[in-house]
Amino acid sequence: MIKRLLLVLLASAVSASAQTTAFGTKATANAAAPAETTATTPTPATTPATKATPKVTEDEVDNTVVITPFRALTPPDAKSTRTFQLSKINKLGFTETTKELQRLYSAFATQRIVDGSPTGSSKATGYLATVNYSLVQDLGDNRFLAKAAWPASGPNEVLAAGVDTMAILLLEKPAKVGDTGKITGMHVGTVALLFTATYPPLVGKRLTIRREAFVECVTLEDSAAGLRKFVEAVNAGAEMSTTTNEQITCKKCGGLGFTREAQKGQLLDKRVPCADCASSGKVIISVETKFAP
Ligand SMILES: [Zn+2]
Repeated sequence: MIKRLLLVLLASAVSASAQTTAFGTKATANAAAPAETTATTPTPATTPATKATPKVTEDEVDNTVVITPFRALTPPDAKSTRTFQLSKINKLGFTETTKELQRLYSAFATQRIVDGSPTGSSKATGYLATVNYSLVQDLGDNRFLAKAAWPASGPNEVLAAGVDTMAILLLEKPAKVGDTGKITGMHVGTVALLFTATYPPLVGKRLTIRREAFVECVTLEDSAAGLRKFVEAVNAGAEMSTTTNEQITCKKCGGLGFTREAQKGQLLDKRVPCADCASSGKVIISVETKFAP
């Protein structure tokens, strides 16, 4: 799934430039070049985005856009797993409750991307964040360089918040420079963008910048109908899980907030503040809850 999304983000980097290049001479120039360099000829369907940009002559403006993965995203990971069994809901002696199911389903819904898969949605492979943006440059194929803002996401804020930060966005629909808006974006990692800036004060400058990249997506609707469908799917054997941050008792100090250290010749132990939980007795960990019938 994520590979496909990233490909969409990176794909046709060269073909886009072919359309936007002011001079339609590149292909001809390269056609006369030796076999080695023709490998980089912008053939839309087959040329990987990672290939070097075609050579251009001095008087030609190089408007090619090349986007390459720079740093992979940090996938949501869980420190612990547990199972939520639907058949135990509201039964005496079990922690499964309707309220807990509702809470977990809400989390589940925000971690799924609506797509064309048989189940209608897939697990999001990156952190989802609401991204506010203002488009700065059109990179072709619904990809944009944008001034963006998004909240920190993930355990320990793995994805740092963006505030007036340049980011690369892949939007669902065509848009134009200057447009502002808000999307649900899935973080797909950091990419390196090689392009010629068209915005002041960098107009005409050929640059490589490394920025966080987001793909616009739609999350599942958190509704009663959605929950009903979800329960049916789990009962029918679908493998579903959701990752949430949960507060649990600190294992190191057993929830006391301190550990004891025996003192030589003294009856009372010395109390050492627990560093794991900052003496609070509680720690927040990410937990993957798997659902079972
Ligand atoms: Zn502790």
